[in-house]
Amino acid sequence: MTRWRYATATDTGIVRETNQDAMFVDESLALVADGMGGHAAGDVASVMATQIVRDLFHADSTVEGLYEAIEAANLAIIADAKEHPDRFGMGTTVIAVGLTHDSAGVISPTLFNVGDSRAYQLRDGALRQLSEDHSVAEEWVRMGRLTPEEAITHPRRHQLTRALGVEDSLEIDVSSIIAMPGDRILLCSDGLSNELSVDSLAKLASAPKSLEDAANELVTAAKHSGGRDNISVVLLEFDEAHTATTPIKKTVSTKAPPVASSPSPGRARSTRRRRVVTWRASLGVLLLGMVVAGAVAIMHWYAYSSFYLADDAGTVAVYQGQPNGVLWYKPNLILDLPYSSRQLRNADIRALRATISEPTFAAAVTFAKYMHTQWLTSRPLPPTTTTAVTTTTIKSVTTTTKAKG
Ligand code: MG
Repeated sequence: MTRWRYATATDTGIVRETNQDAMFVDESLALVADGMGGHAAGDVASVMATQIVRDLFHADSTVEGLYEAIEAANLAIIADAKEHPDRFGMGTTVIAVGLTHDSAGVISPTLFNVGDSRAYQLRDGALRQLSEDHSVAEEWVRMGRLTPEEAITHPRRHQLTRALGVEDSLEIDVSSIIAMPGDRILLCSDGLSNELSVDSLAKLASAPKSLEDAANELVTAAKHSGGRDNISVVLLEFDEAHTATTPIKKTVSTKAPPVASSPSPGRARSTRRRRVVTWRASLGVLLLGMVVAGAVAIMHWYAYSSFYLADDAGTVAVYQGQPNGVLWYKPNLILDLPYSSRQLRNADIRALRATISEPTFAAAVTFAKYMHTQWLTSRPLPPTTTTAVTTTTIKSVTTTTKAKG
């Protein structure tokens, strides 16, 4: 049997007006959720996730049970946002450790992660990050496109690639934690990890004092470092720890739920053959026509809803559409930018060849300029040469991508 003691601390921070983080911890589950969205919507999303995961995990304390609890929370947040337009765009991260029962009866800690809240393990004063951030900048570090140092100040470091409340389909990182008695686990929102260095986190979280004091001192230190975001901490310490019979480490994707069936064209044709033309049949045909027209409109919207950067005969260019087209909708070349495709760093040249998706035209232009600037600054400057950098002015920037506040 695995057992832990626990403590929590949270604070709105210095800059924010409300605390949109939510937490839960008891003898079998520890969870931090960092909500996002305008008004109070982020708060709604993080609280919903916390309550749903808590209730469903307590009903089924297995790996599958915790996985399904997070999946259910995701769908519930999406459904709630559809019912309440003022909550459109709300979402939340979730990082959770559950003491899960396996088929052999072993109870062991299992980590679940979606987003950029973090889990660290502390042993003998040393700290190890257990979770991977699901943000654009950190994904690019793992791909080799950015260095960890570049990621710290990158403009897309807060843009999440995964969160609850975004899509029906969700990818969740699941991994067994191999713990020993005396080990501590720190779960936190990015309001803590962005403010404190790894050394400070290790020192404060593993301090030989009560868990309550350590948790409170972590939050206080983050506030003293700026407190620019909500700060939440769950600190666990194992009294007894066992390892799962079959430890796991994988990313699990949920499947999109089945789509509700639309009126059958075959059924409409059959009705016509019988020439039983009633007002109901006419209405059915009309509705079918509307469904088809709606489907075509949605297809057109999807086909041209995004932008990407690609090479256009040696020039960095912005295209609108999907790189390989959608049915008969081919992507459109919108603008050749004043950057040669060769005037980029090697990793960016390779990325450009594969195309780089961006949510808006403005984001595409901004990122192209960023890549070119990175190339300029990475080159040794010739002693007497001045390089002119062309500036592209963007009249308005409208970003539809969900960025964390
Ligand atoms: Mg945050």
